[in-house]
Amino acid sequence: MREVAVDQEITAYNLAGSCLERYVASNLLWKKRLNMSLNGSCLCGQIRYRIHGPLETVLNCHCSMCRKAHGAAFRTRAAVRTADFEWVGGESLLSRFESSKGEHRTFCSMCGSNLVTLFEENPEWLGFALGTLDDDPGVKPEMHVFVGDKAPWHEITDDLPRWREVPDY
Ligand SMILES: [Zn+2]
Ligand SMILES: [Zn+2]
Repeated sequence: MREVAVDQEITAYNLAGSCLERYVASNLLWKKRLNMSLNGSCLCGQIRYRIHGPLETVLNCHCSMCRKAHGAAFRTRAAVRTADFEWVGGESLLSRFESSKGEHRTFCSMCGSNLVTLFEENPEWLGFALGTLDDDPGVKPEMHVFVGDKAPWHEITDDLPRWREVPDY
């Protein structure tokens, strides 16, 4: 039965329209999974992290910086509270690159896996790339952003909202 309840919360989260509704839904979802934390690691396995709180605003970013950083059609990212994010191992291997003023993308200096983005002007939040998760976060992308920069060889085939840049939320 617990699984069903979690599924309903995930549906509520994915259907929620406003930022506030999403926040409430994702916190409900997280409370249902209180005993869980999310674990992740880089490709070489030396950097490991754990997340103790909800992932907010999961989206696929098609901007050219994300495409290049990930060597992929897009980056799937979420916002995570810095207080909910913990490095478990290998933090000394972290390298960073300032891709925009005040925005530092971090990656493993051994294997190149992209990890979190640090914001000088908003240190309470991290940009978190979902690709290195080892656990299922239970949430899915809500939208595509920067589709104006989308790779010409990639076709979006889902029905999620598409934004030329980033909507206000
Ligand atoms: Zn690594
Ligand atoms: Zn991007």
